[in-house]
Amino acid sequence: MTGPSATGPVLLRMTLRAEPDVFLVRQRGREVAAAVGMEHQDQVRLATALSEIGRYLVVTLAVPARAEVTFAVTVDATPQVLVTEVTAVPPAGTTEQTLTEALVLGRLVDTFSVARDGAALVLRMTRRIPAPTSPLTPDRLDVIRDNLNASAASTPLEEMAEQNEQLLAALEQTRAQRDELVRLNEELAETNRGVLALYTQLSEELDETNRGVVALHAELEERSVQLRAASEAKSRFLANVSHELRAPVTAVIGLTRLLLDPASDPLTAEQREQAELIRGSAADLLSLVNELLDLGKAESGAIEPNWTDVELRTVFGQLRGTVRAMATRPEVELVVVDPAPPALIRTDEVLLTQVLRNLLHNGLKFTARGEVRMTAEVDGDWWVVRVSDTGIGVPAELQERIFEEFYQVPGRPSPTGARGTGLGLPYARRLSRLLGGDLRMTSEPGAGSTFTVHLPLRPTP
Ligand code: ADP
Repeated sequence: MTGPSATGPVLLRMTLRAEPDVFLVRQRGREVAAAVGMEHQDQVRLATALSEIGRYLVVTLAVPARAEVTFAVTVDATPQVLVTEVTAVPPAGTTEQTLTEALVLGRLVDTFSVARDGAALVLRMTRRIPAPTSPLTPDRLDVIRDNLNASAASTPLEEMAEQNEQLLAALEQTRAQRDELVRLNEELAETNRGVLALYTQLSEELDETNRGVVALHAELEERSVQLRAASEAKSRFLANVSHELRAPVTAVIGLTRLLLDPASDPLTAEQREQAELIRGSAADLLSLVNELLDLGKAESGAIEPNWTDVELRTVFGQLRGTVRAMATRPEVELVVVDPAPPALIRTDEVLLTQVLRNLLHNGLKFTARGEVRMTAEVDGDWWVVRVSDTGIGVPAELQERIFEEFYQVPGRPSPTGARGTGLGLPYARRLSRLLGGDLRMTSEPGAGSTFTVHLPLRPTP
């Protein structure tokens, strides 16, 4: 009756004879569960399972003979298990299956089984003992057994009162859980409202920002239209003014030439000197007017490159010839290095020549001694033409400004005394860009400058 060998000595043994004993078994079951350290809920579960079995045997089946109830604890299993067995001889025809189907105790205990032992049926329930109290040593089990056997069983009425109390406690617990649920629901609703408010606020802020961006965009667009209009007006002004100036200035030059002609009436020495001055100034003015006209044309988009296959060596050869006339000082050498053949480039020969001539002129203008050198090489998809000199150079902070119209580095006149207009570089950069490339410069004041023209091997006109 004490179950398998793993089960230790019986802690308590009881007999179930009539209905009042059901209460008693229930109460004692709870006491045993408490004594071995089970939680309150588990105590109630075991007590309920026992009263279910008791009621079924005594009331439903009306087992005439008595049923034996034993409680024991396994000794060598981990965790330890409380084994409760009820042994009874049922009426004929009652099988293990009858009991298994009638008593659904699976939720109350860990295992429930019914086995036959001769004429008797053994109902066996097990329930794990929680870790904190396990292991229960044999000595400890002896103490528990002695205590259980010493404690008096209470009356059915007391047990009923106890049951009522438990029921009330369970009800109270359910009510508390329901209240907690209501509170959680309210909290959730509150949080939802908060999230919704935040979402609305964020949406509004986003809308506001979007409206701002759209307005800013429109303003930018308007500004860029104004800027374009201003730039076009400037180009038109430059073109018109220079065009209008060219005729009278040319006339002044013609008139002074007439005055100075030996065939004309002789002039006094002073008059001749003044006439020479007028002619010099008029010539300067004419070159300024011409450069302004060129720049105006380039800016207004009136220049349409004439794309042809150009042999770079030819361009270099011509420049070597024409620019050499300027390089009259022995202290400065003009070096034009022909690129290795074939040096073909698809470009506008006239415009390219203007750019390079301009750079060579500048090099010679701003170099007191050393050399001005022009080279060309292919780098990837580009022709790279470099004009470098050993001249006065340009301070880093002004290296972009010299590409602005009329800008000339202040306080640094050309060492050769040559004058200029400040229009050459902006024009050269414009043309380089028209040809699909660009013009940039690097320089070290006192050591020299390098102007680099990038031109595409295959321009897309
Ligand atoms: P200009 O030569 O007629 O003054 P540019 O537009 O060609 O006008 O050049 C603008 C200015 O840039 C020059 O006045 C000069 O101060 C500076 N500059 C141009 N080329 C050189 C160079 N090779 N070395 C030093 N300074 C230069």
